[in-house]
Amino acid sequence: MTLQLIFYTQSTPLEYYRAGKRFPFLKPHSCLHPDCRLPIPPRPYGYYSRNIISFGFTGRILIRRYYCPRCGHTFSCLPSFCLPYYQYSLALIWINLLCQFFNLLPFLKALAAYVNWHRQHLQFYRKRFKNNLVFIKLVLRQLVPEIKLPEEMAIRKEAKKVLSIVTTDFPTVQTFSTRFFAQSNKSFMASRGNSITL
Ligand SMILES: [Zn+2]
Repeated sequence: MTLQLIFYTQSTPLEYYRAGKRFPFLKPHSCLHPDCRLPIPPRPYGYYSRNIISFGFTGRILIRRYYCPRCGHTFSCLPSFCLPYYQYSLALIWINLLCQFFNLLPFLKALAAYVNWHRQHLQFYRKRFKNNLVFIKLVLRQLVPEIKLPEEMAIRKEAKKVLSIVTTDFPTVQTFSTRFFAQSNKSFMASRGNSITL
């Protein structure tokens, strides 16, 4: 079984791509499987390539893998501009959500044309974010105990509030996404049941 994890990087997708195998990948100090946690670094276990569509770069990037000899799990280390199971970059998905929930329609239209998004992509992201709101609020509360979260309200209004809170309370959306994943072992856009990927 392969576990994915997200590590924080300030590198852009293009810089990451250009560095290739020379990129300073995350090096875990111990096994990352919760039932194992062997306190020796997992072994490097090659790479796989995956698609990324982002501002300024579209193509295949290398993802570093590690292997734990005790429990047999492999770990894939995704740079923080990626979200597991999405080929569009975190930045694009985040801006998409902001545009949709804050009605920035001319900008959304230009963006959609730029990255080739169709209506079903937009709908998919919007629905996924709405479906995950309760979960997102729960994890935000664990990350920032003093955070002021919206109470139950109209779902669109609540989504806007949560987007604003994340934008103001975290230095970057990549910081938010990385910390969210470390806390919950899921991305904030992870499937809560169905497995369609866009
Ligand atoms: Zn292990």
